[in-house]
Amino acid sequence: MKKTILLLAMGLFQTISAQETLDLTYYLPQHISYDTSIPKPADIIGHEVGEWHVTHDKLLFYMQQLAQASNRISLENRGATFEGRPIVLLTITSPKNHQNIEKIRQEHLALTESSGASQSLETMPIVVYQGFSIHGNEPSGANAGLAYAYYLAAAQGREIDELLDSMIILMDPSYNPDGLQRFAYWANTNKSKQLNPDRNEREYHEVWPGGRTNHYWFDMNRDWLPVQLPESRARIASFHKWLPNILTDHHEMGTNSTFFFQPGEPSRVHPLTPKLNQELTAEIGTYHAKALDKIGSLYYSEENYDDYYYGKGSTFPDINGSIGILFEQGSSRGHIQESENGILTFPFTIRNQFTTALSTVEAARNMRTKILGYQRDFYAGARNEATKSSAKVIVFGDRKDAAKTWHLAEILHRHKIKFHELARETTIAGKSYEKGSSYVVPMNQKNHRLIKAMFEKRTSFTDSLFYDVSAWTFPLAFNLDYAEVNSTAHLGPEVTNFVPLSGTVDKKSSYAYLFEWHEYYTPKALNKILNKGLRAKVAKAPFSLGGKQYDYGTIMVPVQHQDLDADALHQFLMNVAQASKIRVHAVSTGLTKGIDLGSNDFDPLTRQKVGILVGDGVRSYDAGEIWHLFDTRYDMKITKIDTKYFNTVDLSRYTDLILPASQGNTFLDATGVDKLKTWVKNGGTLIGYRTMAEWFHKQEVVKLNLKKDSLVAKNVSFGQKSDFKGAQVTGGAIFEAKLDRSHPINYGYKSDKLALFRNTNIYIEPDKNSYNNPIQYTNSPLQSGYISEEKLSLLKNSVPFQARQLGKGKVLVFTDNTNFRAFWYGTNKLLMNAIFFGKMM
Ligand SMILES: [Zn+2]
Repeated sequence: MKKTILLLAMGLFQTISAQETLDLTYYLPQHISYDTSIPKPADIIGHEVGEWHVTHDKLLFYMQQLAQASNRISLENRGATFEGRPIVLLTITSPKNHQNIEKIRQEHLALTESSGASQSLETMPIVVYQGFSIHGNEPSGANAGLAYAYYLAAAQGREIDELLDSMIILMDPSYNPDGLQRFAYWANTNKSKQLNPDRNEREYHEVWPGGRTNHYWFDMNRDWLPVQLPESRARIASFHKWLPNILTDHHEMGTNSTFFFQPGEPSRVHPLTPKLNQELTAEIGTYHAKALDKIGSLYYSEENYDDYYYGKGSTFPDINGSIGILFEQGSSRGHIQESENGILTFPFTIRNQFTTALSTVEAARNMRTKILGYQRDFYAGARNEATKSSAKVIVFGDRKDAAKTWHLAEILHRHKIKFHELARETTIAGKSYEKGSSYVVPMNQKNHRLIKAMFEKRTSFTDSLFYDVSAWTFPLAFNLDYAEVNSTAHLGPEVTNFVPLSGTVDKKSSYAYLFEWHEYYTPKALNKILNKGLRAKVAKAPFSLGGKQYDYGTIMVPVQHQDLDADALHQFLMNVAQASKIRVHAVSTGLTKGIDLGSNDFDPLTRQKVGILVGDGVRSYDAGEIWHLFDTRYDMKITKIDTKYFNTVDLSRYTDLILPASQGNTFLDATGVDKLKTWVKNGGTLIGYRTMAEWFHKQEVVKLNLKKDSLVAKNVSFGQKSDFKGAQVTGGAIFEAKLDRSHPINYGYKSDKLALFRNTNIYIEPDKNSYNNPIQYTNSPLQSGYISEEKLSLLKNSVPFQARQLGKGKVLVFTDNTNFRAFWYGTNKLLMNAIFFGKMM
């Protein structure tokens, strides 16, 4: 104990004095010389590392200058963020390796193939991918990158030469350029000349939504597996191009914490991750410990964080033969802040990140052949498992929705998982699969383990605590039919040219056009049609016409009485079909089997003007997912209305208002609540998510029958309290509901079963009238993931959706997140149904 205090005191003394005379030597290893022709960060960006928070544009500029000045560094641009910032990667190695870089890459990849056994490890470089600050407001990593890249470019002597000879470093200076820029702006604009550690200082209290997330407020450290965002797409392409041996992910955590490095909680490692992966992680950890000991920094490992969800940067590598490592540094949030460990300065946090970036490559150099051998054996083991797999293929698809099928295939494509066309139309376990809207994944392939991680359902666990979600079964998230099959009979040709889908209008009509509502992008099409001022109606019942069946929710666009003539309408719809990748059918008669096209069972549709509540009190992730869905998937305008000025807004401009889940205690005041109620009573459609179910109930917007649990701790000690409470958290799992397909909320769903993602403990009793329960959890709802027995019994037969009348308007409530992390394509349509058909519910 005494020793700890002494070390801490020494550490503090050093940091404060370093802050007063801050220069680059504070970070760098001493007693070596540096190449004077290499520009230092301050020479280029105009301030010392840690003096200000580096903006992304300055970071980029320095890296570009460094790449120009150093023959150890090359820089490539791999794309752009939503805000147009370049997503760059530095390749850092010895000049000799640079000259053979493509050959080195090929040989490295060969190690993971069946030829791997014949590769010599003795001279083979190891590949290390080092990335920083995926959460933009955890900036010590990206700022450390300035000093780290300088060191790798400028250090002289045998040590650095040998290091760079022995490895290829892929340096990703900023995993999240838009978030880093946002946070740097905040910290810098609030900085005082007299650095002020007072925790009440505005500098340490970022405004909503903060810099953690990307442009659409996504946590990008959950997207490594779904790859829905541009930053992840660039990164995953580099990952598969190189298959690095080690991948590091430098974060920050609470200000009162010290420093964390993996391994994490031993009981919470995903069972598909090999044991040896964790042993190697621990051995690498000894290098971090030694380096941090040397500079007097406190640290911990094997606590808090885990290696379970493969969508995280430090866990994704573990299912790909690599070793992912998470670093977490206690955050100064701005430039200097008081903490339980004394005054925490920004330079101090940067130095810890710099130090562990360096200890990572030191470990990589010393453990090179061991880690290369691990990677070779990982793939050999996977190949062995693949040949023994009882399932030979996975067939997946949706005969009514080629686009959703295509988007799951797109994820496989990004992860270099091979897939094939379906050989011929087939029915498996009562589900029919058609060519063009189905694919077949052979299990006997290199990425066998990754396929398992994406497709498996898992309901038993060794631990009941999860840092993140406990399930992500992709075909369920996409609401696709799928089956494991014990033969390869369904394998058609491999898809080698994966091209975008196209849409069609089968011919010109002088009567009407029809399209079913099942395809993923139909809301985009309908929105374009209504925005053009065209008339369209929706079918409230199925019918058949010209030998084709049309389901609930079919959209009809008549030719008569439109602002466009028949030729112009045809041309317009062809453009819409192409942009929305849907199939539109021309018909020449209104007489059908079932409801005729002139029937009152076709309801007219109107243009929707949608607002969404954002700002203080709103959970930014949930709001961002909806904004992203409207803006990027469906090309629909959505007005973001901030809670700050909600009370002054004229709501009569909007047909629909979405209230995402809330966060914290501040939300709308009594004036705001009255305003909402009045607007609904006058005919508005109010759509609330998750915590809004409770809030609507409490504010008497609508009365819901909420189920409460009465769990009491019995034989649980104080020491077990947090585990006991944690076990009752539904962190994210997948549950089955049955659908009443005649209800407008379910238009476009072809099956009467639907998988839903749930991460709340809010339960609504079903209404006593069964027609008011269009979506209801089944009696045995758990499909994949963790939920406690107590919570599962509450969930059974409860309802995740209710629609209530209030005056002339509607209140629609979802207890579950139907828009989760941009990859729950399967439930995106529920929100669109609420928007377009809410009035009919
Ligand atoms: Zn983080």
